[in-house]
Amino acid sequence: MLNLARRTTARAVLSAVRTKTTLSLSSTVSSFPTDHTKPGQEPYLTPSFINNEFIKSESSEWFDIHDPATNYVVSKVPQSTPEELEAAIAAAEAAFPIWKEYSIIKRQGIAFKFVQLLRENLDRIASVIVLEQGKTFVDAQGDVTRGLQVAEAACNITNDLKGETLEVSTDMETKMIREPLGVIGSICPFNFPAMVPLWSLPLILVTGNTAVIKPSERVPGASLIIAELVAKAGVPPGVVNMVHGKHDTVNKLIEDPRIKALNFVGGDKAGKYIYEKGAALGKRVQANLGAKNHLVVLPDANKQQFINALNGAAFGAAGQRCMAISVLVTVGETKEWLADIAKDAGLLKVGSGFDPKSDLGPLINPTSLTRTHEIIEDSLKAGAKLLLDGRGYKPAEERFANGNFLAPTIITNVGPGIRAYDEEIFAPVLAVVNVDTIDDAIELVNNNKYGNGVAIFTSSGSSAQYFTKRIDVGQVGVNVPIPVPLPMFSFTGSRGSFLGDLNFYGKAGVTFLTKPKTITSSWKSNLIDEHILKPSTSMPVQQ
Ligand code: NAD
Repeated sequence: MLNLARRTTARAVLSAVRTKTTLSLSSTVSSFPTDHTKPGQEPYLTPSFINNEFIKSESSEWFDIHDPATNYVVSKVPQSTPEELEAAIAAAEAAFPIWKEYSIIKRQGIAFKFVQLLRENLDRIASVIVLEQGKTFVDAQGDVTRGLQVAEAACNITNDLKGETLEVSTDMETKMIREPLGVIGSICPFNFPAMVPLWSLPLILVTGNTAVIKPSERVPGASLIIAELVAKAGVPPGVVNMVHGKHDTVNKLIEDPRIKALNFVGGDKAGKYIYEKGAALGKRVQANLGAKNHLVVLPDANKQQFINALNGAAFGAAGQRCMAISVLVTVGETKEWLADIAKDAGLLKVGSGFDPKSDLGPLINPTSLTRTHEIIEDSLKAGAKLLLDGRGYKPAEERFANGNFLAPTIITNVGPGIRAYDEEIFAPVLAVVNVDTIDDAIELVNNNKYGNGVAIFTSSGSSAQYFTKRIDVGQVGVNVPIPVPLPMFSFTGSRGSFLGDLNFYGKAGVTFLTKPKTITSSWKSNLIDEHILKPSTSMPVQQ
């Protein structure tokens, strides 16, 4: 009865929304952008996704989405109206009891199909990422692939969700199962438009939860393709919904009692706000925040292997990765290697993400570029030195004259107290700190407020062992610059880079999305004795 009532309400809310226009996406598996759009081209209106339909928003407030390489407006995204937010949450709430009743094998089958569709649409999703986010096509393919790997791992749910059972007394058995929570709200950042929504969506699905997802208002395109694929894979209407906007949308997801848990990935300010407000309302929240990742190099490291790894990790994706290396810690004489590092960094090609020769693209927007310039200038005033200056770089083609480009930049003479060291810049800017010993390096890293990632480069196993045991960072790489674990493990950023108790994906992800239930049953095998049992009023101890 309750389910029927829920579905009737959701249908009523949806039909109000559905009288509006339904749309389809502008790209398909065989037709997607391979170059930047031209100025004056009509921007695409980003739809919402509710009950497996793309719906044109009735909003009067739309935000422009700029191609970061040209700053042309490529699409617009709405601030979803209160009615649209209500329709999405009501749809997810109504779908929950239906989806939860799907057998695990059926949900697993849909997950397999979803994986197949993601793979078929990988280049299509990557192309939209290049257009809206700016990263290079090959890097965007990596963005999708890292999300796809989470979806692949989620197909193992028939093992991961196995309960526990024990005969606790003669003919009495306790089993512990894990049940889904209900509607999960996901709030995503701009820098990984496919990977981050896919950090949680596949597990939300296979564990039997439903979702209302808010992609970043700067890069919603990839998420919407993912939504289309979820529906094609056979997920019933209402299980996955997508809404848009800024604070109003986030506040609705936090405050609505039908949303049982929130996952957030983004910057410190929003993350702290969402974590504190959500937790105060009794919701489960997992929040991945900002970072400042150090790479420590010891004199016995393989020099060229280290330089290649460093430059890729510091400047790839224009430094806009939460696991980008943003601080190099040179130990002892490795400071002599700086000239070679700068020489190779200066060879990296900065340009359009659609140009296969580009190693890195532009920053997300002019605000980010201006802030980066300010941090560099403030740091120089405070005594820092520029070893490599990427400011003012523009690719040769005229159409990129207004793009948010910054070439690799290296700043030395920094340390705590200087902005280039203290703040997450999120740009292709590497700060260099020189220390004398491995212990000095460990002290520096452990005193930094963030704990997302750290790497050490060395050819000594015992130095690596010494370092990994003493370093207080959640993800440690030994001769690996970006040590993000594959999804059979969890993303284990720590300290100032994470708020919550259970991390994204892996075992912790499944635990976050489910709650335990124990069922204790007694089925007597010896029915003859049954009649001599008398009622017992003492506390059962089940011996
Ligand atoms: P952001 O915090 O600006 O935005 C993230 C999301 O929060 C967006 O959907 C946005 O609409 C919303 N939001 C922003 N400000 C808000 C506010 N005041 N109230 C409510 N909602 C708000 O982050 P971003 O710029 O999109 O992403 C970059 C940041 O994300 C970096 O700090 C990066 O380190 C971090 N990040 C962290 C991880 C990780 O796993 N630790 C991964 C990716 C990105």
